[in-house]
Amino acid sequence: MTDNKELNSPGYEIPDDLAHAVSITTIDRLYNWGRRSSVWPLMFGLACCAIEMIAAQASRYDLARFGMEVMRPSPRQSDLMIVAGTVTKKMVPSIVRLYNQMPEPKYVMAMGACASGGGPFKEGYNVVAGVDKFIPVDVYVPGCPPTPQALIAGLIKLQEKIDKQSIRKVRWYRKGADTVQIPVPVLGPDIMDPRRYDEIKRLASRAVPAGEKPAEAVEATSSPAEEA
Ligand code: SF4
Repeated sequence: MTDNKELNSPGYEIPDDLAHAVSITTIDRLYNWGRRSSVWPLMFGLACCAIEMIAAQASRYDLARFGMEVMRPSPRQSDLMIVAGTVTKKMVPSIVRLYNQMPEPKYVMAMGACASGGGPFKEGYNVVAGVDKFIPVDVYVPGCPPTPQALIAGLIKLQEKIDKQSIRKVRWYRKGADTVQIPVPVLGPDIMDPRRYDEIKRLASRAVPAGEKPAEAVEATSSPAEEA
């Protein structure tokens, strides 16, 4: 819990007898203080890392100290997606869809080696090499699995990131669309970027001699974030 002294960021002198009742601060500081102290994570887990995330929410580590104990079962009420576990190709479309359903401001944390880069399954036929190839990640927490303490350290990093934002510059208060829609990948022979349907269909319709694969076909199956 932030006390009055910390909130008093411009540093104006406040008489001692009012120090516990009055704060002089900036809109940015107040705006960020409220958001960083009530981050609501989306409640879902993908694999073993999720067990550590659950432990972090239990009484021993007590995320209520950071205002983050309210894990929401709906993306509409969440502002933090903790990707905890192995991200399979089958799961990626659902993860991106959930991300798109979260309102702004929203943040993403990649918890563990699997979510950050594929982990021990990096070369696997069914696992993506990091969720950041599909959605923007704000904080990476290393480890296999990261301990609850490591997750909490990552959450504190996220709070520091929120502290640096300015209400005058954040994307979600600007004119125009208030969110970045990420195309939902499609599960196929490999995961596909819907923006490249026509190109993929054209390449797939070409006759390819057995055992050969045209170079452009390899390129066409790359993930959307690799192009960004
Ligand atoms: S990083 Fe390790 S502990 Fe976490 S999901 Fe992958 S294999 Fe499991």
